[in-house]
Amino acid sequence: MNRTRRVKILATLGPASNTPGMIEKLTLAGADVFRINMSHASHDIMRQTVAHIRSVEEKLGYPIGIMADMQGPKHRLGKFEGGELDVKPGDTITFDSDPTPGNATRVNLPHPEILEAMQPGHRMLINDGKVSLEVLESGKDWAKAKIISGTWLADRKGVNLPDSELASGALTKKDLADLDAALAAKVDWIALSFIQRPDDLAEARKIVKGRAGILAKIEKPQAVERLDEIIDMADAIMVARGDLGVEMPLEVVPSIQKKMIRKCRRAGTPVVVATQMLESMIHAPVPTRAEVSDVANAVYEGADAVMLSAESAAGDYPQEAVSTMNSIADAIEKDKGYLDVIAGQRPEPDATSADAISFAASEIASTLDLRAVVCFTASGSTALRVSRTRPAKPILALSPVPETARRLTMLWGTKCILSPDAEDLKDVIDKACRRAADEEMADPGDRIIVVAGVPLKTPGSTNMLRIAYVNDAGQGAQHR
Ligand code: PEP
Repeated sequence: MNRTRRVKILATLGPASNTPGMIEKLTLAGADVFRINMSHASHDIMRQTVAHIRSVEEKLGYPIGIMADMQGPKHRLGKFEGGELDVKPGDTITFDSDPTPGNATRVNLPHPEILEAMQPGHRMLINDGKVSLEVLESGKDWAKAKIISGTWLADRKGVNLPDSELASGALTKKDLADLDAALAAKVDWIALSFIQRPDDLAEARKIVKGRAGILAKIEKPQAVERLDEIIDMADAIMVARGDLGVEMPLEVVPSIQKKMIRKCRRAGTPVVVATQMLESMIHAPVPTRAEVSDVANAVYEGADAVMLSAESAAGDYPQEAVSTMNSIADAIEKDKGYLDVIAGQRPEPDATSADAISFAASEIASTLDLRAVVCFTASGSTALRVSRTRPAKPILALSPVPETARRLTMLWGTKCILSPDAEDLKDVIDKACRRAADEEMADPGDRIIVVAGVPLKTPGSTNMLRIAYVNDAGQGAQHR
């Protein structure tokens, strides 16, 4: 696979796509990372899907990333007598802890922590915001609310509470079981839903213990308020526009997306833009013009990855959705103005040797028109710092650690491949040149820039830059 696209594509797998054949087609069409949504996948399906992805990875010979997305504290109504209830603005209804089926005056809300957190004046949004209510009165295990808009409630519809900070963490009992199963299956990323505060990430980190990267989905106003702290704690961030657009006014989502991408780029934390990117392709082979613009915007903003949800998981055109995203990204990245826009938002380097070296490598690669920036990375942190500079030239990351190579599949502009540790400095340069030639990222006679840490095999020692010529046979360095 000789892919030159910088932005990565994250495709959700589901009934329309979780077979080995379709996973291979989606990979060849452009998917770099696959997401398994634990709201819908059983442990057996998740394990089977991971096995299918790994078999495709082996067949194609390139690392593929896998993300398991935890459901999080998704809240739902109890049941109604007859399964549903017609309502109108001005009606009042009490939410309580009584599990008997609801009627026109009351209904069960089987989440004691929400009943406790709801206060007069708080908003309640049911069924993706189609019904909105305002809490009038509340007690320890009940809340009376007035319908503000909407006309229909039904069994088990989702409930969002944008104004209420809940005492519970982001990991439910189901999440803990799902997390254990996903880590045992060796997924590369764990996505946490509905996080509200940095402590939610700390709780997950204690369980994950470095076995996977932790991505924080930003979908609650409480998380938007504490974005800086959350970005500091997370390995990656997702602009989860689905629930974010329910919990906050839709019209503020675009500016939050821009702010989040800018902050993540400044911090060097990978950022994914998600939800409804090519929504109409669930049932149509071509997207709308507005959807094409939406994907293009995320690419121009310098997001690390763009994501497909139902389009690839449950739609009629999963392969077309991935290849459409691929074509849009390719076209934008070929636009002459693209790299100027990306470079215009380049953050300042931190005062560390890793950052100073990464920025210098990026600058030198442009100034001397070198073919690629090749970096050696065991934990992935050198590649992260190089990618943060958004160099004009492709990044090739060499890692001896398969888990690192898989995790870096989400990183902007970076192709990561497995490569054994270098033995000495000469071997560093030889391996860099040979692998750049193998991957068709440089030809004999071309120059590349190599970023590494000396002493070798020492984490966090990024301190070396070297310009190297690929030799005439394209098999190593020409030591001049
Ligand atoms: C979202 O809300 O945008 C999102 C990505 O989460 P989910 O698909 O789990 O609802």
